[in-house]
Amino acid sequence: MHNDVLVIGGGHAGLTAAITAAENGAKVLLLEASPKNMRGGNSRHTRDLRIMHHQPTKVLTDIYPAKEYWDDLVRVTNGQTNKHLAYLTIRNSANNVKWLQQHGVCFQPPLKGTLQLGRTNAFLLGGGKAMINALYHSAELLGVQIRYDSTVTMLTLDENHFVEAILENGQTIEASALIVASGGFEANREWLEKIWGKIAKNFIIRGTPYNRGLILKQLLEKGAKQVGNPKQCHAVAIDGCAPLFDGGIVSRVDCITLGIVVNKHAKRFYDEGEDLWPKRYAIWGHLVAQQPDQIAYVIIDAKSEKMFIPSAFPPKTANTLLELAQKIAIDPDALLKTVHEYNASIQPGTFNHTKLDNCHTQNLAINKTHWARTIDTPPFKAYLLRPGITFTYLGVTVNDKAQIIMADDQPSKNIFAAGEIMAGNVLAEGYLAGTGLTIGAVFGRIAGKEAAQYATN
Ligand SMILES: Cc1cc2nc3c(=O)[nH]c(=O)nc-3n(C[C@H](O)[C@H](O)[C@H](O)COP(=O)(O)OP(=O)(O)OC[C@H]3O[C@@H](n4cnc5c(N)ncnc54)[C@H](O)[C@@H]3O)c2cc1C
Repeated sequence: MHNDVLVIGGGHAGLTAAITAAENGAKVLLLEASPKNMRGGNSRHTRDLRIMHHQPTKVLTDIYPAKEYWDDLVRVTNGQTNKHLAYLTIRNSANNVKWLQQHGVCFQPPLKGTLQLGRTNAFLLGGGKAMINALYHSAELLGVQIRYDSTVTMLTLDENHFVEAILENGQTIEASALIVASGGFEANREWLEKIWGKIAKNFIIRGTPYNRGLILKQLLEKGAKQVGNPKQCHAVAIDGCAPLFDGGIVSRVDCITLGIVVNKHAKRFYDEGEDLWPKRYAIWGHLVAQQPDQIAYVIIDAKSEKMFIPSAFPPKTANTLLELAQKIAIDPDALLKTVHEYNASIQPGTFNHTKLDNCHTQNLAINKTHWARTIDTPPFKAYLLRPGITFTYLGVTVNDKAQIIMADDQPSKNIFAAGEIMAGNVLAEGYLAGTGLTIGAVFGRIAGKEAAQYATN
């Protein structure tokens, strides 16, 4: 059977593209590497999307104008963004909630509490899994053909033009247009090691094991223009007890601002209170990656216990710091010295974890600039931290029709990209919570429409 549009990757971006292409009259085939029960890529781990809006809605409070969204993006990326594509994403983000609702996805009322995102981010009811199931259902109703256990290993191009995809089992699939939505290469340890060296052996992959970057590599080898720096990735400090793949959100350790973080020599190495947690959580993966054996420990006492969402795995707990040091196998004298110096350097202040308060240390080599409270009340707790890689930023360059730009700076007429594989055009550095899905939603719709138009004309 002839396919108008072939979509590679069945995460949020691929499904959005497939649904839109089908709604625009195309016969669509979607190939997904995972088995059915593991479908949805990293998208199934998500919780929220960042949305521009000019008035409060049922799922977002207040307003979040385009200019403020842009300013936030520039700040986190240090300007590593294509302004035209970024504004296209921001403006079109306003339609994301409605589009998803029209395709069976439900949202929660605005979120209150420590995440401070109820104004800017719309939260999925039931999380990413519920969203993914609804989108697969919508795609099936529209006649999108879906094939699981179908890893594409090679692409054949003829002068920047897609001809056919070759599956792991050797089967070839032709289509008039191709949409690539196969994510980054974060689950490809060999590739990570090439970039990061041996320390990458100790990284935990927070999401799907199927994002191995096979399609990204094929496209770059066949002349697609690269975007983003291979070394840039979103990485957070996660619970060292998490599984090697797919641990998802429940293994994040969110108490760093409440305690101190030490490496295996019991030395602090960064200001734990630098900024509000949603703005700083994404630097800790890189920080822990630079420590010996790529491990660290966050130490808190009883005062902080109920103030954060706990990891799924219980921390080590002890009634004395000495006992805690023994349980986590670090030098007790060194830990006692670090905690003692830290406690002694804390200045008087009024603790308030919801804002940048005035509780800080003084005269330490590395001061804690907010939320510094003594660690003196048992039980003491220690979470083992390891770098958890969320996704990579290296991708293919696209234009505002989601067409892939080739090395000669010309767009391919029939190859389109959406989602993480092209997110580096908008966000090549840093991270702004909820923009991953937003980029996939906007470029998924554009890619689906453009590919369908190309294929059916
Ligand atoms: C734990 C976690 C939490 C996150 N939370 C959020 C959040 O709340 N909000 C947010 O905006 N972003 C979040 N992100 C980032 C977000 O997941 C991504 O930005 C987004 O899901 C990317 O969508 P995608 O469709 O491009 O990729 P994916 O959802 O990863 O889908 C890619 C698909 O391609 C398939 N594939 C890969 N290679 C091949 C191949 N060769 N052949 C066939 N199929 C292939 C994979 O199996 C996968 O299903 C989170 C990520 C993680 C890991």
